[in-house]
This record gives sequence, C-alpha cells and structure tokens, in this order.
Amino acid sequence: MFRCDTAIAVYCLAMSTAQEILQSVFGYESFREPQSEIIHAIIEGDDALVLMPTGGGKSLCYQIPALARNGCGIVISPLIALMQDQVNAMRQLGVRASFLNSSLDITVARAVEGDLLSGNLDLLYVAPERLTQERFLALLRQTDIALFAIDEAHCVSQWGHDFRADYLKLSLLHEHFPNIPRIALTATADARTRAEITMRLDLDRAKHFIASFDRPNIHYRIALKEKNPRAQLLRFLRAGHQQHAGIVYCMSRKRTQEIALWLRDQGFTALPYHAGLPADTRADHQMRFLREEAVIIVATIAFGMGIDKPDVRFVAHMDMPKTVESYYQETGRAGRDGEPSNAWMIYGLQDVIKLRQMVASSEGSEEYKRAEQHRLNAMLGLCEITTCRREALLQYFGEPQPTSCGNCDTCLEPIDTWDGTDAVRKALSAVYRTGQRFGVNHLIDILRGAENAKVLQFDHHHLPIHGVGKDLNDTQWRSVFRQLVGRGYLSVDMERFGALHLEEKCRPLLRGEEAIMLRREAAAKPARQHTKTALPSDIDITLWEALRDCRRELAEEQGVPPYVIFHDRSLKDMCSALPRNSEQFGRITGVGERKLKKYGYAFLQVIGKHLQRTVGEAGELQSR
Ligand code: ADP
Ligand code: ZN
Repeated sequence: MFRCDTAIAVYCLAMSTAQEILQSVFGYESFREPQSEIIHAIIEGDDALVLMPTGGGKSLCYQIPALARNGCGIVISPLIALMQDQVNAMRQLGVRASFLNSSLDITVARAVEGDLLSGNLDLLYVAPERLTQERFLALLRQTDIALFAIDEAHCVSQWGHDFRADYLKLSLLHEHFPNIPRIALTATADARTRAEITMRLDLDRAKHFIASFDRPNIHYRIALKEKNPRAQLLRFLRAGHQQHAGIVYCMSRKRTQEIALWLRDQGFTALPYHAGLPADTRADHQMRFLREEAVIIVATIAFGMGIDKPDVRFVAHMDMPKTVESYYQETGRAGRDGEPSNAWMIYGLQDVIKLRQMVASSEGSEEYKRAEQHRLNAMLGLCEITTCRREALLQYFGEPQPTSCGNCDTCLEPIDTWDGTDAVRKALSAVYRTGQRFGVNHLIDILRGAENAKVLQFDHHHLPIHGVGKDLNDTQWRSVFRQLVGRGYLSVDMERFGALHLEEKCRPLLRGEEAIMLRREAAAKPARQHTKTALPSDIDITLWEALRDCRRELAEEQGVPPYVIFHDRSLKDMCSALPRNSEQFGRITGVGERKLKKYGYAFLQVIGKHLQRTVGEAGELQSR
C-alpha cells in the first residue's frame, strides 16, 4: 500500500489543468522553456520574476494561471495603446478580458468595474496609475483576485529609458494584498535592472526565471555599406520580402521620409514614422502597419516600443544603432511568432563617426560620454567579428552559447580574415602590463610607441611592449581591440572610464596556446541571401493565398489585425495537414475550442474547395 504524496498530487493537478488550458483555450501542444515551471509557481501562489526575450511567450505565464486560479488576473501594463489589441486577442480565445485606462469614458469604465465585482472577468488590464488610486484599491479589496502581473517590469528602473514613476508605487500591491501571487515580467536582460525590479517591487521571495535570450528564428546579417545603400536594401527586400511586413530603421527623420517615398516608387507599401510627424499621422501609420498585411514602416528609433505585431518578417537597419542593447531590442521586433525572420543591417565608417559626434556633443557628463563611446565600440565589434554573430550577441548579455549557430551570415559564409595571433598577444599584454586600468586610445599610444604626456606620466614608455606595434596603424589597432571586445576576450569597465579588462577566455591566447583570425577591414563582397522566410516548398501557394484572404475578410469584419484571427503558423499548418473535418481542424496549432467553433467552418470550406479543385485537376490529367 503506498501513500499518495499530496505535494506531488497537487502539482500534477495544477499542471494537468495548465496543460488542458494550453490546449483547449490556446490550441498549443506543449509549453516552451520555462513556461510550465513559472505557471506552476504562480498557480501554487508563489511570486515570480520572469526574464524572457521578446516573443518568448511571457503572456501565457500569467494568462494561464489567471484562468486556472480562482478570481480575476490583474495585469498592469504601461502600454495603453496595446490594451485594446490584447483584450481583442483574449476574447477571440473565449477569455473574459477587459481593460481600464484613461481612454475609456466613464460609463464604459463603470461597466467594466461592475463585471470585475460580479466575478465576470478572467483578466483585467490596467494602467499603473490606476492601481495607486484609493477608489480602485477599494474595488480590488471586494474582488477575488487570481494574481497580479506586472508587465514591462523594467519600467521601475530609474536608469532605463522607459522609466515610469507610477511603477515605483507598485510595491503597495504587496502591502495591501500580501497573499495574492505577483509575477513581474520583462525582456530587459541586465543584472542591474533585475536587482532594481526585485528591490522596488518587494520581490525578494520571488523565484527568478531567466529564459535564454536567443532568438533562433532570427537570421542575422551585417554588411558594409556600398556606394548605393538603397540598392542593397532593394536587393534584400526583393530576395524574399516582397509580401512581408517589416521595419526599416534609419538614423535621421529626413532619411525615413526619403526612403519611404523611394520604396513606394519601387512598388512597396512603405510609410514613414518619426517623432516629428503629427500625432495623428503617426497613429494612422502604426494602425496600418498592424491591420494591413505587407506594410513597411520606415522609422527612426521613435518607432517600436509596444509594437506587439507577431508577424514582422524583417528588421532592416540602414545605419548602425548606437548600442548592442538597441540592436538587440530593435531586431527583436522581428519574428515574435517564432517563424523565420531576418535582421539585416548595413553600416559604414560614416555611421560610426556620426554617432561618435552625437555622443561627444551630448549633454551628459564626461563619464557618461565615455561609457557611451565604449558601448558604441562594442556595437562596432559585433559588426566586425568573424565568428558567429549570435554567439557574440548572447555573450554580450552574459549568456554562454555554442560557437556556431548556423543561422547568421558569418556562420553561413565565412569571411576574409588575417592571422591576428601576434597582434592580439601584443594588445592583450598591453592591457595586462598596464594593470587593466586604461582604455583603447592609451593602449594604442603605448603599442605605437607614442611618448605623449599620459604615457610619460605613467612611465609607460619603459614597458617592454612600448612601441612593439608600429607595424599596424591606428585604425588597424582599433579594429584589433574592437574585435577583442566584440568577441569577449576583453571587457569594458564603464564605471572606470572604459578601462579594458582581460577575460578568462584570453589566457590561452596570452600563453601562446591558441591562434586567432581577425576580420579584414575591407568592403564586403555582395552577400548571397540566405532567406528562409519564403514559404516551405511543400505548401501550395494558391491554398495559402486563399487562406490568407479568408483570414483578411474575417479580420476586416471584426476590425482586428489578421494575426488575431490566426497566426501564419496556423495557416501553414492548415496547408500541410489539409484538415477535412472539425476534429482534424482542432488539431491545427493555435486552434483552441473557441476558434474551432468560430472559424472552423470558414477555413474548412476554403480547404475543401481547394481539395476538390486539385482532385479535379488530377482527374482531368488522368482522363487525358
Ligand atoms: P512576449 O510577450 O514574451 O513577447 P508573447 O507572449 O506575445 O511573447 O508570445 C509570443 C508568441 O508565441 C505568441 O504568438 C504566443 O501565442 C506564442 N506562444 C507562446 N507560448 C507558446 C507555446 N507554448 N506554444 C506555441 N506558441 C506559443
Ligand atoms: Zn552564427
């Protein structure tokens, strides 16, 4: 006779409920890492801090527990513009969702409050300022609450760009509702932000869940600018993005306008977006990007925050972003739906010079400017490396990775290199011999044998490495150092004026046990495209288009973006599985019970017609 372990039994029950909701409501087969642990923790009543990249699947982590637990899940989000779409998407799945923010008129808001009080809501999205209103808190006290989800939790960070003063007050949730589980979510990776979230939101007892920041479906490509950058962009778009939604980032407002116009001449639907356009034009362009299917937004960095469109197939940079953080964030807007997508960028020396000048003439302190310059150099490092881009990108965020991803330009087309072993050893010795306390400029001065005031002041002209690097010029040395930083052999200490530090990884290089190849500074040959974004070859294009038409009509009828009806993934699945009845249709990914009822008939009709046509054609062929 064995005793049932209650903890395990409770766990199993919770997880079978979660699994059931995943399938019946969302129509998904299985959880992604680490969704199921997070969901389990919240269902059990624990707090959680979740770090997951964009597109990782954060929303499910609170949506499912909100459905599994008793009461309504309260989601705090700063992105008011998004709430309507989020609520629409939830309602499509049959979830009772609403939102409360300043855009609602009072009668609608009162009706939502009534639904909350009478237990008719599963999810309620609210703006942060509302939670600090005594009236709303009183309302919550009379309600069954399943959980609090604090989305975009990095908004509590006073160091970040998205700081929201109202977020600081959210610790009151813990004081007023100590027994309700809280889950804070963000896609901002760094340790400082994480610590700040923990402290400011009183989450010391929360379990931390850190997902990999890799976005395997994004193909990275970075190339040097040629004489005609627009032609490069056009080649890129024509090689697989004719019918796709995407974002083209440019450094200046003027350029966004010019390029948008020019793309329109080339037959694309392209719209500019920057902070200098009237608010209603911006809103209109953003809306068209979301609601129509193949719109390209040509934008400055003013565009992107809170864009939750899952089927952005490419992000193109016409100029180099300022930091690796921005590059990662901006490229991360591609492919949230997990389908193959491209992050494409061209850069040139001009970008670097312009960005340097922008930093130098900015308002910040000298210390700030130096830190920015070094962040800029790290971005350049990413451009120049000869090894896997993904590896470098992830290493920048402190995540060790296999050394070759097979889905970036450097992995797919090895580039022109030179044996930098000797130069690198000299560079690393210079860092070591000067106590890891100096930045690139000074180290190059020493290597090149300069005898300026700073060199003399520190007695560096007596070092054995002084002047051993005259064979390379200033630019070449800079490239050596940038590549070393970019590949993680050296790290930059922002707090100590950009001093370079040796990383563990460079030991074998210093000992002469390892050789290293460096990227040669030369214009890259026009790269072949490796776009996987085209449809798989087994998919019938006529059926695909017919399904898209069906989706578009349904979306227009309801005034929602097409992806709210079904993601591309689901349409592709329909094309290959060719379901003939509603039972088979229910097995398509993204088809839960509600969508089966609502849309099964319409899509099955389209598939049925297609099958008849192809059978007919086959019959005709046979009878000939
Ligand atoms: P995030 O908020 O982290 O950017 P989302 O929650 O919007 O990401 O999820 C990104 C996409 O992945 C959504 O379309 C979502 O429906 C889908 N998704 C999330 N979890 C799963 C899963 N377990 N299986 C299949 N698709 C998933
Ligand atoms: Zn790679």
